[in-house]
Amino acid sequence: MSQQTATHSNDNPFESMMSRFDEAARIIGLDEGSYNVLKSPQKAVIVSIPVTMDNGTVQVFEGFRVVHNANLGPSKGGIRYSMDVNLDEVKALAAWMTWKCAVVGIPYGGGKGGIKCDPRKLSKGELERLTRAYTDLMVDVFGPDKDIPAPDMGTGQQEMAWIMDEYSKLVGYSSPAVVTGKPLVLGGSLGRVEATGRGVMVSTRSALSKLGISPIGCTCAVQGFGNVGSISAKLLQMQGMKVLAISDVTGGYYDANGIDVEAAIKYRDQNNGTLEGFKAQKITNEELLELDVTVLVPAAMENQITADNADKIKAKLIVEGANGPTVAAADTILNKKGVMVVPDILANAGGVTVSYFEWVQNRLGYFWTEERVYRRADRVMKTAFEAVYAASQKYNVSLRIAAYIVSIAKVAEVEKLRGKFGL
Ligand code: NAD
Repeated sequence: MSQQTATHSNDNPFESMMSRFDEAARIIGLDEGSYNVLKSPQKAVIVSIPVTMDNGTVQVFEGFRVVHNANLGPSKGGIRYSMDVNLDEVKALAAWMTWKCAVVGIPYGGGKGGIKCDPRKLSKGELERLTRAYTDLMVDVFGPDKDIPAPDMGTGQQEMAWIMDEYSKLVGYSSPAVVTGKPLVLGGSLGRVEATGRGVMVSTRSALSKLGISPIGCTCAVQGFGNVGSISAKLLQMQGMKVLAISDVTGGYYDANGIDVEAAIKYRDQNNGTLEGFKAQKITNEELLELDVTVLVPAAMENQITADNADKIKAKLIVEGANGPTVAAADTILNKKGVMVVPDILANAGGVTVSYFEWVQNRLGYFWTEERVYRRADRVMKTAFEAVYAASQKYNVSLRIAAYIVSIAKVAEVEKLRGKFGL
């Protein structure tokens, strides 16, 4: 299988992902045809988006939407607004979504989109015109049964509301299920904001039970204090764990007696969104990763655990709230040290799971209570963890490779059943 011998660099998270894909594909003996099908996106659309700016000039933006694989159902994935957006990145992120949806067993394929722009430099009116024009150009790609966007870096509820409205106008009826991550009043789901952090907490509990460690009194450190990090920290503390350190872009904050996470969230919310000045011992983000804790939750950004620091990690368990926080070269070191790692595509899949619930509720026209959303999402996360754990035992591999094995095997099986053109 010559394609699988390609070398992959360490610091590109997507290359890192592909090297895990290759390893899993090799272990399950994926045939070369299926390997090539799953490696390539099924559809990649590039559009030029003309927008009349506030000053009357016309600017043309480049927009993308990639459907990596729609074998398991409509493709699902966010839309990113950033100057770094390019086709290669969008392709890689779309593939990531395929594995993430498959590993938690929701009936979606993987997709991703983006517009090369700096949203902070656009007025609200310009952003609205840009988002609506992008939707017009993607009307044949999007659809509740075809391809369902969601927020990603640089986009949020407002952009989803515009997409839903524009798409609805184009098809002639209200179509809330075409996007997820909408405001509640427009058909968003209760529990979506907490969903990813909650999934991290549920995965942590599942993993700790395999390690025979009680969460009560067990220590943890959480890197990143945004949506995922702060909610993970809060829920882990509610499970009886002692959160020794938290961090954000301003650095790390340590307290040997445990950080009061609720107080830290309140502080951040009243302090322009950062922990700067929070009362605790100041440490660096690097030091946080190397603390003597039982559980480490990287929930900030990619490439935090590398070949340089993996050996210094003392945690017994790493639960990846962020996407791509561990480079492939660090996997070998962590495996050798016996550190259990719940990989990103499993650990942070609580978010896409509740996005799926939002779509289900939109299609039912019936909304669930927060309690029902949590109960069902917890069940999805627990079941997925058990399946991945079983595969790791069966193949004697890490949870990460096991997660790729579970998802690749599932998508490949469906591809074989449906034929080569799953769309
Ligand atoms: P966010 O923007 O809400 O928070 C990011 C946090 O990381 C902030 O506290 C920020 O200060 C901190 N940070 C930024 N640069 C840092 C640095 N150099 N060192 C340490 N901390 C730094 O983002 P989020 O939604 O919480 O996402 C965090 C990660 O989780 C990302 O990798 C994202 O892709 C992933 N993720 C998020 C979701 C979701 O539902 N929000 C779902 C799946 C995966």
